Amino acid sequence: MDKGLRRELPTREEALAVLATSDDDLLEVVAAAGKVRRHWFGRRVKLNYLVNLKSGLCPEDCSYCSQRLGSKADILKYTWLKPDEASEAAAAGLAGGAKRVCLVASGRGPTDRDVDRVSETVKAIKEQNEGVEVCACLGLLSDGQAERLREAGADAYNHNLNTSESTYAGITTTHTYADRVDTVQKAHAAGLSACSGLIAGMGESDEDLVDVVYSLRELDPDSVPVNFLIPFEGTPLAKEWHLTPQRCLRILAMVRFVCPDVEVRIAGGREVHLRSMQPLALNLANSIFLGDYLTSEGQAGKADLEMIADAGFEVEGTGQVTLPEHRATVGGGCVSHESGDCGSHKSAGCGSQAGGGVCGTAATAAPAAEPRTDLVAVRRRGAGTDHAPNA
Ligand code: SF4
Repeated sequence: MDKGLRRELPTREEALAVLATSDDDLLEVVAAAGKVRRHWFGRRVKLNYLVNLKSGLCPEDCSYCSQRLGSKADILKYTWLKPDEASEAAAAGLAGGAKRVCLVASGRGPTDRDVDRVSETVKAIKEQNEGVEVCACLGLLSDGQAERLREAGADAYNHNLNTSESTYAGITTTHTYADRVDTVQKAHAAGLSACSGLIAGMGESDEDLVDVVYSLRELDPDSVPVNFLIPFEGTPLAKEWHLTPQRCLRILAMVRFVCPDVEVRIAGGREVHLRSMQPLALNLANSIFLGDYLTSEGQAGKADLEMIADAGFEVEGTGQVTLPEHRATVGGGCVSHESGDCGSHKSAGCGSQAGGGVCGTAATAAPAAEPRTDLVAVRRRGAGTDHAPNA
């Protein structure tokens, strides 16, 4: 906690110890990480709103993704929303209290024509909604595309590392971990606020989780979305139910300690895996998505707002700056890296998951959670449908 208050990097052993906390000690860990969260972000909760510009039909094979090549998940499939359709969808989220709109498209990466389309969409949203932040998430970027999105008014670019370098090839074969790092660096170099995070619950070990979070810290994103795998029926990871609410809290606490002054966002899987512990997690993360996810439903947007108020937090307004002053004023400058070897990948890694097995090797791994397929609902409303969005 003291290191978090000083923006110092904890040791790998300390980060691993957070993941190994006993249930008896968990509340004390949440309280300690909560003190770091409040030091840098007060009681503010930033709301983000997802607009899926293009759903399904992806040629890539990311095992966790319901939009992947060969996915049998019964998700919505549609091609590019028009700028006014996307702007209308975004407006619903903004009216619900979101200050950032995340424009996402399935696919390996955008063509230059796609960048044109998204640029028009960014402009439309910005013209119609003063003060809104727009983040694009379009996959791997080619040279010059980040700059063009920046010129069009995009504030941020999301591209997640997802998992450790040593396990990446077991999750995806159609692109590499290095490709992902390259895109985050391109976004950063173009002056976009970088957003990059992870997915927990794919069978990774504690060492893998620490690896990916240390790598994220080295990449220096302004925001780190923490996804908890939604094991979609029809995807290769459909049977991977490993997370418990307590495990999710430990992971969020570890991310907060390693990235103390960064926007830590609870992303997909919040309702499915944290369940009734969601309000406690607001002590660790300072940001969530409002309403639905890309292809699955979240809890009602109204329930998100009530949860924030009931837990004693407040929705961050458009007039409030998310990041602490030392980061905001330097365009996302990082915590200093002087205090440790934050990018090392020393763990042996657990190899391919092609056999569908669980590769977690940590003695502290949580017992398997009961599958809660009843909590996974395919999105059937909002963007790409004629039904009102959940915001
Ligand atoms: S994560 Fe992105 S690139 Fe991978 S399969 Fe899903 S939509 Fe395609």
